[in-house]
Amino acid sequence: MLKTIEAFNRIGEENAFAVLARATELAGEGRDIINLGIGQPDFRTPEHIVEAAVKALRDGEHGYTPATGILPLREAVAADVEKRTGAAVDPGNVVVVPGGKVTMFMAILMFGEPGVDILYPDPGFPIYRSMIEFTGANPVPIPIREENEFAFSAEETLSLLTPNTRLVILNSPANPTGGVTPRAEIKKLVAGLAKRPDIAILSDEIYGQMTYEGAEHCSLYGFEEIRDRLILLDGWSKTYAMTGWRMGYAVWPEALLDKARKLAVNCWSCVNAPAQFAGIAALTGPQDAVARMMAEFDIRRKLVVEGLNALPGVSARVPMGAFYAFPNIRETGFKAKPLARALLEEAGVAVIGGPDFGVLGEGYIRLSYANSAENISRALKRMEEFLASARP
Ligand code: PLP
Repeated sequence: MLKTIEAFNRIGEENAFAVLARATELAGEGRDIINLGIGQPDFRTPEHIVEAAVKALRDGEHGYTPATGILPLREAVAADVEKRTGAAVDPGNVVVVPGGKVTMFMAILMFGEPGVDILYPDPGFPIYRSMIEFTGANPVPIPIREENEFAFSAEETLSLLTPNTRLVILNSPANPTGGVTPRAEIKKLVAGLAKRPDIAILSDEIYGQMTYEGAEHCSLYGFEEIRDRLILLDGWSKTYAMTGWRMGYAVWPEALLDKARKLAVNCWSCVNAPAQFAGIAALTGPQDAVARMMAEFDIRRKLVVEGLNALPGVSARVPMGAFYAFPNIRETGFKAKPLARALLEEAGVAVIGGPDFGVLGEGYIRLSYANSAENISRALKRMEEFLASARP
């Protein structure tokens, strides 16, 4: 018997990938499956970005690069973050990683150990809790409440801090809820966190450029008083429809930078070289494709919310960011995961049960509206038919 470390008894998963696998399997059997499960834009990566990678390969850019990424890419990231947050960024503090997820892996590894508290949003991206538990740290959920429009509450978050808190993970705009935390709330939180220089903050802003009219993304990077302990997580996956390229970045504070670089050297050496050239083209090239995608998401957002609210027992808030709806399904009488399972197996609609995002996700399901308006309408029709006939 091979004996691996005991921590593997605690590592979790991202069930969206299991749902994707099952949906693909069912489709392979000839079933017509509408996938509203996986969180990735259904658009193609804009052509000029693809071309930049192809050109890089043709130009012979296929060797190792510096572990933290090529300088022109880190300069482009720094300029982009500076433009969006108003805060100066040193390209030397940028670490390019194979996907946004990698930054959370690194940050949680840096701070997690038994006896330590790490705060994370619940419902939230499942990897936060999984990795916290892997390290043996104590996972402390920050409740994300529907009655608070799925924003986090500064007061509640600050009330959860203990002398053992080492890391606070925040995410706005948020997965799975589409909630966007308003600037006033973030300011309040920052004022509280500023009094605790011993606590690091991981701000997951991967959906930072995906907000809708009436919402504003407020980056924690804009607050100087916490910048020396803030890890800004962002990347290309969502904004530029580049999930499969595996391109993400973080801006690390000076105190953690060398540790981040060492993790990079020890694990992946450097991100795929041509993908890094694509990353430059994405940030420095025309941004109209991003605006077009968001306009399309906005149309679908209205469609999905209207359709969900017309279903018996279902009520949905209007998501103000990302491309997820997180309807409350309590009144249907179903528990969330059995409902998600039945919708896939019986109605051919892939969605994710709220509990896959944390205990407070019970009573909700997540729909990604990264699918065509036509498919969304078909999915809603199927859900209506299912709910009309099925019994919990
Ligand atoms: N952070 C959040 C909140 C996400 O929803 C995701 C992906 O779904 C990620 C990070 C990871 O992004 P990437 O695919 O770039 O690793």
